Amino acid sequence: MLYKTITKENFRRMIEGLMEDNDVFGPKWRDRDKNGDKVYRFLKLNDFDELQMDYTRTYSSPKNFFIPFKETLSTYDLAETEWDQQIRYTVHPRVIVGMRACDINALRKLDEVMVKSAFPNPYYFARRRNTVIIGLDHEPLEDCFCRSVNADVVFKGFDLFLTDIGAKYFVAIGSDTGYRIVDRFGGEEVSEADQDAFKSMKKRIESKFKTQVDVTIVPELMDLEFESEVWERWGDKCMSCGSCAMVCPTCYCYGVEEDVDLSFTHAAKQRFLYSCNLIDFAMVAGDHNFRPEPHIRLKYRYYHQFRGFVEAFNQSLCVGCNRCGVACLAGISPKAVIDDLNETEQR
Ligand code: SF4
Ligand code: SF4
Repeated sequence: MLYKTITKENFRRMIEGLMEDNDVFGPKWRDRDKNGDKVYRFLKLNDFDELQMDYTRTYSSPKNFFIPFKETLSTYDLAETEWDQQIRYTVHPRVIVGMRACDINALRKLDEVMVKSAFPNPYYFARRRNTVIIGLDHEPLEDCFCRSVNADVVFKGFDLFLTDIGAKYFVAIGSDTGYRIVDRFGGEEVSEADQDAFKSMKKRIESKFKTQVDVTIVPELMDLEFESEVWERWGDKCMSCGSCAMVCPTCYCYGVEEDVDLSFTHAAKQRFLYSCNLIDFAMVAGDHNFRPEPHIRLKYRYYHQFRGFVEAFNQSLCVGCNRCGVACLAGISPKAVIDDLNETEQR
C-alpha cells in the first residue's frame, strides 16, 4: 500500500476538480431526528461546502449506489411476432466521498456475490467499475460493533482512504486512479510527524469502541440452537416490515417483476430490493409459504448474515454498522439477539 498526505486546502481543490467531470456524492445534512440529532444522507454535491466530513452515520447505506431500491434490467418492444430487447448498464463516472471502512467492507462482501460468483451481475459490476471511492476513517459511535466482525479497518475496495490528522489527511492509496488523483491535487510525501499523527489517531479511534458482540462461535451456535426459544423471543416482536434489510449495507435479496403496458407493445423487467423478513418472501405458487412465521424469517436472516455467508466465504456478511438496530421499531438488533444466543448456550 502506498501512502501520501494531502492538506485540507488541496483536498478541497481535489473535490472541486473531481466535480468538474464527474457526479460527486457525499454525506449531506438533510434533517433532524426525533431526538434532535442530525440526519445525513449520501447525496450529489453541488458545492464543496455541502460535504459533511464530520457526519456520524447515514440511515441508509451507500449500497444503494450499486444496488438501487429499484432498477430496470431490460425493456422490450413488441410488434406482432417480433420483439426487441434493450439492455443498458452504462454508468456516468462518479465519485463517492466519505464512505466508512465498514461500508467499503460491505461492498467487498457484495463483490464476492455480484462480481466473483459463477453468475456475475453486470449492472452491479458496471456501477462498481465506474465509481471512484474515497473513504474516510472515523471514531465509532456508541453502538458500532464493526470491530467485533473485523470490519473497522479496510485495506482494499477503495481508491483513496483518508484519516484526519489535523491540518492534513493521511491518505492510503488503493488504486492507480487513486494515485493519479492525489498526485494531480498536491499529494505530499509522508513525514515522520505525519506518521506519528496517524498512529495516535488510529489509537484514539481504537480506544473509542464501546460495543462488542461476541461472534466467536456464532456460526456453530446457529446450528446448535436452531430450535432455540431465542428465535421466538425476538421473532415474536418482529413486525415483518423489512426495514432492517433496506438499510443494511450487505442485504441483497431481491424480487423481479415484468411491467407490460396496456397496449402490449412495451414492457420492462424491473428488479427491486426485497427482505427475507417480509411475509411473502418464501411464498410459492399454490399459496404455500415455506416461512409463514416471523421468527422463522428472522432466524433465516441471521443465518444468512452469520452462518451461510461464513460457510461460503469464511467471513460474516454483517459489518457491524447497527443500522438495522437503529431502524427496527421493535428493538431487534444483532447485539441483542447474539448476546441472547450466547447466553442461552451458557445457561
Ligand atoms: S426492522 Fe425489526 S420489525 Fe422490521 S423486519 Fe426487521 S427485525 Fe422485523
Ligand atoms: S449491523 Fe445490521 S445493518 Fe449493519 S451490516 Fe449487520 S445486519 Fe446489516
